[in-house]
Amino acid sequence: MNTGGLYGRFFFTFDLYSNTMDAEILNIGDELLIGQVLNTNAQWLAEQLTQSGFNVSRMVTVADKMPQILEAFNEARQRAALVIVTGGLGPTNDDLTRDALCTFFKCGMKTDADSLARLHVFFTNRGVALTDLNRSQAQVPERSEAIENIDGTSPGMWFDVDDKVLVALPGVPFELKNMMTRIVLPRLKARFKPGEVVFRTVLVQGIGESFLSEIIKGWEAALPMGCSLAYLPQPGIVRLRLLMRGSDVAAMESVIESQIAGLQQLIPEYIFGFGDETLAEVVGRLLLQNEQSLSTAESCTGGTIAQMITAVPGCSAYFKGSIIAYSNEVKMHQLNVPPELLAKHGAVSEAVVLAMAENVRKTVQTTYGIAVSGVAGPDGGSPEKPVGTTWIAVSGPEGSHAKKFLFGEHRGRNITRAALAGLNMLRLMIISGR
Ligand code: ATP
Repeated sequence: MNTGGLYGRFFFTFDLYSNTMDAEILNIGDELLIGQVLNTNAQWLAEQLTQSGFNVSRMVTVADKMPQILEAFNEARQRAALVIVTGGLGPTNDDLTRDALCTFFKCGMKTDADSLARLHVFFTNRGVALTDLNRSQAQVPERSEAIENIDGTSPGMWFDVDDKVLVALPGVPFELKNMMTRIVLPRLKARFKPGEVVFRTVLVQGIGESFLSEIIKGWEAALPMGCSLAYLPQPGIVRLRLLMRGSDVAAMESVIESQIAGLQQLIPEYIFGFGDETLAEVVGRLLLQNEQSLSTAESCTGGTIAQMITAVPGCSAYFKGSIIAYSNEVKMHQLNVPPELLAKHGAVSEAVVLAMAENVRKTVQTTYGIAVSGVAGPDGGSPEKPVGTTWIAVSGPEGSHAKKFLFGEHRGRNITRAALAGLNMLRLMIISGR
């Protein structure tokens, strides 16, 4: 790809990481360290901060213990211009964050009038008298500004001290998210001017991460300076995220789009979508556009394809139903799979899965039928058909097509991968018109 003309521009437009601001995330709570609560706040905050142009350089989780909390504040503040702290803001004895912040910033508490007014309304609306313990939640360290919490009782706190910012937020995920989105992120962007971030995620199905990287390594090596690629694999899907930081959003978008166009030429059959869309959404959209319909005959996936399809609102316009044909009896009696096919080839075979797809399509009267039969594991494998062996067929107006897959050892992942592979086979059949 000829990007020669653009390179000169990169040096001026995309000032790479010179503008990126290091941020650290500090989560406080025993429940996180004993594995009782999954630290989803760290993941969400990292995503939000990255998308807002910050460089999240470290995440730390500490116990509800004063020395550990103070040590963590100290270390994080030495390293980063921005520290986001979550948890431990409640009114109970194990909530130490506010006291720790007073100790760390060497100040006392003050009452935040707005927070106190909100607490009055909050408790009056519930017909409950405000106790001293509740009232104490309107207290924030003197050197901070309170951050409004419209969903709960603990305000957040914004410290801008020694040219560094520390923001403390409640641990309750929906309270934290609302406060970040409404107040903190816009304020952080204004305060630090971290630059713009542009990214696009390409969704890939039908090829593992290592094979994919082999095919696209030339394209990856030729990515223009400042454009970074991340592989984000999950069972059955690889997400490729292209990201740029800089100031000229339109220029960065156009670079990313041209790189994606190059990728589409390289692996057209594997790219099924972009961003957050699901394969079921993409397939649903195609069926809707073409006024076509779908049914599934599922053995080892046990209805997973139907579940993925029905998770999409509006799917009743194209999805008619599913026959979960787990046993041979159901395959024979509900799907008219001839007993001799089962006896000769076994349930996990090309002949049986083709019969399942063709017959579900006829029985349910749909444009397309998808069928799956496989050895999901952990038992049931044989030397000829080891665990993970899966036959998938798609049947449509122009004919039927079956494919054998050898997935892995893990039952749950095999089921997900089989369901996604079936949907992708259908997608390819629809777009190729065959
Ligand atoms: P509040 O005063 O509103 O309770 P808080 O700051 O005291 O807020 P915590 O008591 O630390 O919050 O946590 C409240 C709940 O939020 C926890 O029981 C937990 O379920 C959830 N939570 C806390 N930290 C996290 C985290 N890092 N990731 C996901 N959930 C969390």
